[in-house]
Amino acid sequence: MLDGLCDKIINRLNTGVLLLDRNFNILMWNRFLAVHANQHDEQVIGKNIFQVFPELPRKWLERKLSSVIQLKNQSFCGWEQRHHLFELAHSRPITTDSDFMAQNCTFLPIEEHGQVTQICILIEDVTDIYHYQTQLKKTLQELALSNRIDGLTQAFNRKHWEECLAAEFSRARRHHSSLALVMLDLDHFKLLNDTHGHQGGDKVLIETAKAINELLRMGDLFGRYGGEEFAVILPNTELSGAEEVAERIRQTIALKAVDYQGQNIGITVSLGVAVLAQQDKRYEDLISRADNALYKAKFSGRNRVSLADAS
Ligand code: GH3
Ligand code: MG
Ligand code: MG
Repeated sequence: MLDGLCDKIINRLNTGVLLLDRNFNILMWNRFLAVHANQHDEQVIGKNIFQVFPELPRKWLERKLSSVIQLKNQSFCGWEQRHHLFELAHSRPITTDSDFMAQNCTFLPIEEHGQVTQICILIEDVTDIYHYQTQLKKTLQELALSNRIDGLTQAFNRKHWEECLAAEFSRARRHHSSLALVMLDLDHFKLLNDTHGHQGGDKVLIETAKAINELLRMGDLFGRYGGEEFAVILPNTELSGAEEVAERIRQTIALKAVDYQGQNIGITVSLGVAVLAQQDKRYEDLISRADNALYKAKFSGRNRVSLADAS
């Protein structure tokens, strides 16, 4: 009577139940597994688990099951450790990046007269948890990225860029290494906006940022400092190297034409270069000297590179 009732309950469970003998032959499984493995009892009962589920990581699982038998302790394998052990179809029509059900598996020793005679494996479908956790992780990563990136130009935004500069500033001080800063501003951009409209201006900003980014090395840190003002941190770079980079940017942008609604829009940039000097107490001092140099470049005719005074 009780046996019949237990069978009924086990077969209605929303969890897989698999019973093995000490040689890992399958003594019993429930309906949940039959449905999700899409196999009949005759194909499974009495067969070895590794024959029925050839996908199982054999060495690993044999070790796990043997330790359950010897130590008489239950053991667990969660989806974070292995997404799944058994290739079972998942029960919900949700889109995940896996064809198979994510699983939490528990291995229970069944004792008789002080000896483990059987092992019961409980297989819990955690596809939903896997799916939502993965989504959450992806969203958090995207959020972290969008907190750092300027939406229009894909350069670092001001806040993140300044954090990078603060870190590079301390590092350069600590290691007595060089550090250069290039600040640049698009020339007569207001006029460009007035002539081609704000969207034309936006396209120029996007393409200018892209062109600058392509000129930089890995490790250089490129940010949008303000509306049409950008800044590049060049770690381990002396004045001559930074001036070269700035000049390369100037020339590249001056030669570039941005296609907007069939028109070729030309643009130039003015640049200020400063390298870390003894007098710079805070990273803001370095910005301020690069900015003054930029102002000098503007004042002396635009489309040029100026070096900061103290350099
Ligand atoms: P200068 O050569 O002295 O730098 O002259 P300028 O016209 O570039 O300088 P100004 O600072 O007077 O103008 C900057 C303009 O940039 C004004 C502002 O409307 C525009 N601007 C700022 N952010 C954006 C943006 O995201 N998109 C567009 N299209 N324009 C922007
Ligand atoms: Mg400008
Ligand atoms: Mg400006």
